Amino acid sequence: MHSRVGSVVNTNGNELKKTGGEVLIHEIVGHAAPVLAGSETGNAVDNENVVRKELGLQEREREENHEE
Ligand SMILES: [Zn+2]
Repeated sequence: MHSRVGSVVNTNGNELKKTGGEVLIHEIVGHAAPVLAGSETGNAVDNENVVRKELGLQEREREENHEE
């Protein structure tokens, strides 16, 4: 499974530091769940942002080639 530990970029282009829980959100919602339950958006970051929005967290910058 792909992992990108550490900081990523938010939708404003600023550093977005992720907690361990937020990394897990990405790995589960972005990569694991689509494999088990079927494709969501086709993009792991888009999947992550759906949950981030629901939780009131900063959304992450879109990554075109970050597939589920
Ligand atoms: Zn990923």
